[in-house]
Amino acid sequence: MSAINGKVVAITGASSGIGEATARLLAERGAAVVLGARRTRRLDEIARDIRDRGGRAVTRAVDVSRREDLEGLVGNAVTEFGRLDVLVGNAGIAKIGPVADLDVDGWSAMIDVNLRGILHGVAAALPVFRRQGHGHLVATVSTAGLTITPTMAVYAATKNAVRTLLEGLRQESTDGVLRTTAVSPGFVRTELAGSIDDSQVRERILHNMEKIGIAPEAVARAIAFVIEQPRDVEISDITIRPTAQG
Ligand code: NDP
Repeated sequence: MSAINGKVVAITGASSGIGEATARLLAERGAAVVLGARRTRRLDEIARDIRDRGGRAVTRAVDVSRREDLEGLVGNAVTEFGRLDVLVGNAGIAKIGPVADLDVDGWSAMIDVNLRGILHGVAAALPVFRRQGHGHLVATVSTAGLTITPTMAVYAATKNAVRTLLEGLRQESTDGVLRTTAVSPGFVRTELAGSIDDSQVRERILHNMEKIGIAPEAVARAIAFVIEQPRDVEISDITIRPTAQG
């Protein structure tokens, strides 16, 4: 039986792409999943499908830029399933483009979702993890933060800020209560390019996703792998990219 069986996992950005694939895979392996995102109709369809297959899933409307929504997501896990073992902070947007375009609103939106969204998750989950004596925070960052390329600067900055946050948390959590994992995907075939306003950049990213992008299920399997480790084993970083990605 999978070590994931019986775990309670809350996932942000669970309405599509990597978050949806992760929710489905973890539920298949016996986790109780709490799905959060803004598109609740899609969340409800996914949760219904999971339940139809014998899994356990509930949904919650979550905008990660709002602290109270993360409190609600974590609270839902505790009231529905008695605790929270893992929070997967996966919600993200990619308003990418050259810095010189000065898309200050796009920068703010990325900071609000990609960085503040994770901080709100930490604020909501950490007290629960401390009370329980264990917890695991997994965040979806990006290979865009490992190799900085033109148009990716601010997006990569938000992702690397999260990477830094997780490492700091890890350093402060050697009492064994909290594990942290930064998951760095390369190109994955999802709806992410939909959030890119610059049409040229969007076409380039879409082209890469279609040409070499891997399936979101590949990232889900990596997330499952880090979650199923015993409590004394922490996989702090994991990178999953297409074999053909430079
Ligand atoms: P999708 O666009 O398919 O998924 C993004 C998810 O984030 C959706 O479920 C969306 O749900 C959610 N989301 C966006 N804004 C908010 C918000 N304010 N509050 C709550 N949820 C929000 O793309 P991916 O699956 O690719 O993205 C998942 C993560 O993976 C992101 O963090 C992304 O940066 C990262 N990533 C993706 C890569 C790729 O190539 N696809 C590569 C590297 C990293 P809703 O709109 O319903 O709120």
